[in-house]
Amino acid sequence: MKRRSVLKSLTGLGGLLLAPYINFANNLNTKTKVMRIAHLTDIHLKDHFDAPKKFVKCLHHVQQQYPKPDLILNGGDIVYDMNKEQLSTINGQWKLVKEIMAQECNIPVQYCLGNHDIWWNEDNKGQAIYGKQYSMDQLKLSSPYYSFIKNGWKFIILDSVHLDIDGTWYIGKLGEVQFTWLENELKNMPADVPVLVMSHIPILTATLMVEDNIVNKWEMLGGDMHTDTAKIINLFYQHPNVKLCLSGHIHLRDKVVYNGVTYICNGAVSGAWWEGNKRETAPGYGLIDLYSDGSFDEHYINY
Ligand SMILES: [Zn+2]
Repeated sequence: MKRRSVLKSLTGLGGLLLAPYINFANNLNTKTKVMRIAHLTDIHLKDHFDAPKKFVKCLHHVQQQYPKPDLILNGGDIVYDMNKEQLSTINGQWKLVKEIMAQECNIPVQYCLGNHDIWWNEDNKGQAIYGKQYSMDQLKLSSPYYSFIKNGWKFIILDSVHLDIDGTWYIGKLGEVQFTWLENELKNMPADVPVLVMSHIPILTATLMVEDNIVNKWEMLGGDMHTDTAKIINLFYQHPNVKLCLSGHIHLRDKVVYNGVTYICNGAVSGAWWEGNKRETAPGYGLIDLYSDGSFDEHYINY
């Protein structure tokens, strides 16, 4: 029966019975698929190991999905590596990214910065391209973290990568300014708008425990997972409309559900930097269907 005819036939039952039946009918209607996204992370594009050819194959694979994704989320480590590289090398990597995306992809893309999209070249500190600026210019981003709303979902793109206290290496964190921004983003959203968060470094992942030769303790580095995990998780706990957090960085695929939030570390398009699988995770991307009630279906696709 169509919803209208269900309601029509129920109107004869009287007001007392009608109210719960209308709720039931509404519930049947609330789970509508609103969009499909592809999450491509850790592409590490460079002209070696046939990476450009394989990346084009991946893009075609994404666009041949039926239904075709409405949006691509690029999870960072867009280029092979910028850190302390020569400018000519960096320019070449970005030229390749832009050419391939223009020629081979007609789905809109939103980008997140990874640690390899940042130029921590101390010799050139003070130059306009130092840090994240070069990549932000390439991607026409005015801020490395931002949000947008699409098809009833709120998307929050985070900037995970910051220099460590000694200034020589990076760690995963938001920093105070971005954390306050995130608090306000969530506070100012109606509680029924589902939220998807994308970061490059995972907020929470079990992949770091998959290590060889563990005797009696695991070592986790601050650059491998967010160091402010507890703080972010506590914030999400106050906003149950946060449903899904996507990340990359580890090149392994896992899914952790904690306090009703699903944290997916979505493998890598490049696998082991274009040399096959990283452990048991083959090169791939995430395909995710989002529903209006905040639920989702997701798969990791080996292309
Ligand atoms: Zn990374």
